[in-house]
Amino acid sequence: MQRLSIPESFERLYGHFGPQHWWPGDTPDEVIVGCVLTQNTRWENVERVIESLRERGLIDPRRYTKLPREELALRLRGCGTYRQKAEYLLNLGKYLLDRGWTGDPDSLSAMDTDALRKELLTVRGVGPETADSILLYALQRPVFVVDAYTRRILARHNMGADQHYDRIQRLFMDALPTDTYLFNEYHALLVACGKQYCGKRPQCDECPLGSDLQKPDRAVIFHPDRRRGAGAVERGGLENR
Ligand code: SF4
Repeated sequence: MQRLSIPESFERLYGHFGPQHWWPGDTPDEVIVGCVLTQNTRWENVERVIESLRERGLIDPRRYTKLPREELALRLRGCGTYRQKAEYLLNLGKYLLDRGWTGDPDSLSAMDTDALRKELLTVRGVGPETADSILLYALQRPVFVVDAYTRRILARHNMGADQHYDRIQRLFMDALPTDTYLFNEYHALLVACGKQYCGKRPQCDECPLGSDLQKPDRAVIFHPDRRRGAGAVERGGLENR
């Protein structure tokens, strides 16, 4: 199947699905917990556990890091390997608190994104996808998240999905303006596409990335100078670029 243009694919996906408003979470702390719990786990199960943690006031690392690991593990039951995830969450929570985390992304603003990413990757239980999801969706840093849906879509378009995580990430980041909102929406749109069209049996005829489809009549223009909530993406004609 034909290779994709990374910018044009965003236009097609955004034109088809519209904004996705990720990540589903009320606060940065809730997003961080979700990033750990969702590893190899259905989101519906994660939501149930987050709801229960929220009711007990345990979303805050200042609270959950005080719990013994076994007790936290019991609170995470239903999220796959919950004992392991309890350990991962404790590691991550302690790391964030050591760094001065208050629940506000600004509390880590003294650290640049590369340094923060390097440190997050040293926390046991935090791999590249989890680290980048935390950076992008909880801390509002402009990094692109690569997941299994991204790899599958790239693989089917002969775009080197077997490459190392960082190389796939670079493929997107080199082709796009460095912008948190754009990376946020793009990753979420690839997930939407993977779920709806690019499953085990791809439905290319209906998919907005199908090579035989035309670009949307009304293409999407991205404005890197705007930010989330301020209409970062607008519809219009490509000729207006
Ligand atoms: S379903 Fe869509 S993304 Fe998947 S291979 Fe077909 S056109 Fe590409």
